[in-house]
Amino acid sequence: MLAAFSISVLSAQTKVIAHRGYWNCEGSAQNSIASLQKARELHIYGSEFDVWMTSDGVLVVNHDATVEGMRIDDTPYEKLKDIRLKNGEKLPLLEEYLLEGKKDKKTKLILEIKSHNTKDKEDRATAAVVEMVKKTGVKKQTEYIAFSLNVCKELVRLTPKTEIAYLNGDLAPQELKALKISGIDYNLSVLKKNKDWIEKAHQLKMKVNVWTVNKEADMQEMIDAKVDYITTDNPVAARELITKK
Ligand code: MG
Repeated sequence: MLAAFSISVLSAQTKVIAHRGYWNCEGSAQNSIASLQKARELHIYGSEFDVWMTSDGVLVVNHDATVEGMRIDDTPYEKLKDIRLKNGEKLPLLEEYLLEGKKDKKTKLILEIKSHNTKDKEDRATAAVVEMVKKTGVKKQTEYIAFSLNVCKELVRLTPKTEIAYLNGDLAPQELKALKISGIDYNLSVLKKNKDWIEKAHQLKMKVNVWTVNKEADMQEMIDAKVDYITTDNPVAARELITKK
């Protein structure tokens, strides 16, 4: 009885996801290959990153829609390929990012597909990402997140057994469950206002992730509320807080 209790407590422990990788340190930059390598060294649950498709179908890793004044989904890769990140790395291709991630299967790849400027582009980007994840052999360690409900629905259709979480914060867990979406990944302010969604999601066997939690008091509040994952720019602080308990 006691053993079973301990196991359930352990499995319920909140885990840490590095937001845009671990970039808040020397030699790193948001969404860089280095940020993935540095997240890996922390032995946390996962490392998050953002994915766009260029106008000619190349998948790249970047947060903003626009780089150096060019909207990624309207620009051919040729015009983007020489762009440098803050740490000197070039704009990563999704393929090289996933192959780097594959070197340590224990670090989950939390792949955000961004909201493209047409439904057609979004559908093509989603299909291409799912193909690339399959081709690079990282399907088992990849989990998807997206603000676009369209992207989430496409993911359910294309890769139904994979973890897929919705980011936009405007739907209750049961509405997403009905669409076969497996988790909520909501802004801190949304979950503070709707704490009952955490329990509701768990009752529905859905996962709960929260972004972007950078203050220790907020981390503690979310740990106490039993979220499954905390997505943070301060993964070291979050990890320390959890292991201290
Ligand atoms: Mg993101």
